[in-house]
Amino acid sequence: MARSEAGRTLRPQHRRHSVAPLRGVADVDTEAVRERLLRRREELRTRASEASAEARHEDDPLSADFAEQVTQRENDDVLGAISDSARFELAQVEAALRRLASGRYGTCAACGEAIEAERLAAVPHAERCRGCAERAAPRAPARH
Ligand SMILES: [Zn+2]
Repeated sequence: MARSEAGRTLRPQHRRHSVAPLRGVADVDTEAVRERLLRRREELRTRASEASAEARHEDDPLSADFAEQVTQRENDDVLGAISDSARFELAQVEAALRRLASGRYGTCAACGEAIEAERLAAVPHAERCRGCAERAAPRAPARH
């Protein structure tokens, strides 16, 4: 186990030098984030297009029966909501990929400060720091 004289000369921090560090953001692995965002983008694209294809009844034309049509339309509302929320998140993911490409990833779009690392870990497409996001979304539950 103790044959690590050679091992000591390996300096693992040198492996990081090929990746340009992000200004103002500590410890963001941009490659890992990019892959995570790209995977998420594929999932969202699939979900949005499947939901809207179903809502357009591509394989399943509207029934001639009125009651059946009502059921189909209710189902369409649900599919429409799924598709809308997927598209909304998709736009955010694409914006995050653009910020990543331009080196602005991890910087709050509102105040310009670094976004908290744990926030980015939870929401990789976050474009604002926690404080600005909470100010922008007053419906976030207040803690009593
Ligand atoms: Zn901010």
